[in-house]
Amino acid sequence: MGRVGRHLIGRLGPTGLADDELEVDIVVGQTCHHATTALGIDIGGSGIKAGIVCGQCGRLVSQRTLMPTPQPATPDLVAAVVADIVGAQAWQGPVGVTFPGLILDGVAIVGVNLDPAWRGRDVAALLSSDRVKATVLNDADAAGLAEARFGAARGVAGVVIVLTFGSGIGSAMLLDGRLIPNAELGHLELDGEDVQDLAAAASKDKYHLSFEQWAARVEHYLTFVEFLFSPKLFVLGGGISQDHDQWLPYLHLRTPFKPAELRNDAGIIGAAMAALDGQVKAPA
Ligand SMILES: [Zn+2]
Repeated sequence: MGRVGRHLIGRLGPTGLADDELEVDIVVGQTCHHATTALGIDIGGSGIKAGIVCGQCGRLVSQRTLMPTPQPATPDLVAAVVADIVGAQAWQGPVGVTFPGLILDGVAIVGVNLDPAWRGRDVAALLSSDRVKATVLNDADAAGLAEARFGAARGVAGVVIVLTFGSGIGSAMLLDGRLIPNAELGHLELDGEDVQDLAAAASKDKYHLSFEQWAARVEHYLTFVEFLFSPKLFVLGGGISQDHDQWLPYLHLRTPFKPAELRNDAGIIGAAMAALDGQVKAPA
């Protein structure tokens, strides 16, 4: 059993999604022979996606659940949706949850586009219950962890930097496949500018740039990151990574680079891996 089709789903919320993000793979019960699984939940601005993931091969072994993110996305309303998802999956094992902001020891420190009520909340405790213990991590970190374990960076030793280009620039840093959590490389200052304004995918549209022109900005940014960290590999993702053949050929870097491989499921997979690893602190 495997992928049986691609379906367009309806608009999820007032914030809206790009058309390509509305396309969701419908996976019915992929099977594998492994026993270690966790429920991964990916909280986005418009939708909350979830699935049960095999910890050994990274496959989604359940149907994918997709719920609209409540508006306003307050802690209590989001926690209610997470509880619904856990209930719908009849799940009792480890749960990993992505969070679109900075998370330290399960506590939300900053969330730019989030309801202010999240600030200082113990998100891991909020999303845990007597049935499940939730591990919470930053969404870009989850995507990076998934790429390191099952995607473009699998098996790569040393420092790997995963960057996602969208409305902003998300970043994750790994060392020998383990996260260095909360690395924030998307707001470095370069030439007196925030690199987000220079090189996010959104700036391509904002400044009416061709792929070649935008790639020159990305190269300038990546050369700076390369200077700072000398990584072994860059993994480049985000919505624009589906057009990678139109801009990766313009990049010239000392560091090898690859397009991200996991795309829509990276958050779910990385969250599940974090829950299984105990890499990010879960509530006591
Ligand atoms: Zn498996």
